[in-house]
Amino acid sequence: MKVLYPGSFDPLTFGHLDLIQRGSNLFGEVLIAVLENPLKKPTFSVERRLKQIREATSSIKGCSITSFTGLTVDCARANQVNMILRGLRAMSDFEYELQVAHTNRTLDSEFETIFLATETHHSFLSSSVVKEVARFGGETRHMVPEFISNDLRQIYKDL
Ligand code: ADP
Repeated sequence: MKVLYPGSFDPLTFGHLDLIQRGSNLFGEVLIAVLENPLKKPTFSVERRLKQIREATSSIKGCSITSFTGLTVDCARANQVNMILRGLRAMSDFEYELQVAHTNRTLDSEFETIFLATETHHSFLSSSVVKEVARFGGETRHMVPEFISNDLRQIYKDL
């Protein structure tokens, strides 16, 4: 069975990777969909994020990657997937994620959202926290794969 794992992944963290690995173990196939949101100015271009994810997930079985703009349900339909995977870190995620899941059901009633609770040691981890640390020269190698840590250092080096 294939699940769609949509997100910004700006950048991918070990929390995302954990979810991808567990999604692959549970469902067999995970299609990672990188959102190109015209309302947000990402730190990494969609091409860079796709490259980072491709490299980080190369050893995970049943993993594929795409990008999309617009509605997640349309991306899912275009890829013949009707199940979406999302992660829950804390109650603060829950309210937003529930709202999105209900909204997606109103757009397409065939559409199911599966939530996986994060591993406790990843529950503090978010792309924003990683960027905040990197911006001020902190170490991020325990939060993201090493080449993403290097990308972050590169992007913030002139600030
Ligand atoms: P979005 O902008 O769509 O929230 P993110 O890249 O921030 O994109 O997150 C994508 C998905 O991954 C969301 O479901 C989010 O809850 C989940 N996620 C993010 N960080 C973690 C983490 N540390 N552990 C588990 N899931 C996570």
